[in-house]
Amino acid sequence: MFEELEKIKLECQSCNRCPLGKTRTNVVFSAGVPNSDIVLIGEAPGYNEDMTGEPFVGRAGQLLDKILASVGFDRHQNIYICNTIKCRPPENRDPLPEEKMACRNYLDRQLACLRPKIILLCGKVALTSFMETKEGISKLRGRWFNGPFGAKMMPIFHPSYLLRNPSHKEGSPKWLMWQDMKEIKRVYDSIKSDSP
Ligand code: SF4
Repeated sequence: MFEELEKIKLECQSCNRCPLGKTRTNVVFSAGVPNSDIVLIGEAPGYNEDMTGEPFVGRAGQLLDKILASVGFDRHQNIYICNTIKCRPPENRDPLPEEKMACRNYLDRQLACLRPKIILLCGKVALTSFMETKEGISKLRGRWFNGPFGAKMMPIFHPSYLLRNPSHKEGSPKWLMWQDMKEIKRVYDSIKSDSP
């Protein structure tokens, strides 16, 4: 598994399948633990990610780490993090459909290697990459769907959205995220307790 992931990463590092290959500073391949049961898929690299080559750094990344820690997860111990595309779109715009399509093979191959039990679709770009739906993330977050390779898949809010909506009141996006994380942890724990 590790060799195949390294091979995919190397391919990405010399990839010019879409125009973002010309403007990136670094390919942003993944963070976290490859043999984790959970894969979190974000949107696209932003400025900080492009500079460091790591997904979810900067304020959104720090908030994500706090959210994960609230239920005992740690990106260095039990979660694998990647994005729908590996290179930063200019001005942090959403990736174009053709960019997502060009990059999709890498993500699919990552998932084929990892075979996670749980996939978290973090934000609307990740959601629409895996689900054909007209419903927004607010409607679909917190619900389990069937994902690739038999994974349980849940859309969740992106931390950037939570940064723009700081209220913790019941029913607020942050409060809903907290409910979703508790549900994810519950399912994770039951998967762990069923493992031989
Ligand atoms: S975004 Fe993906 S397809 Fe486009 S250049 Fe980067 S690695 Fe290649």
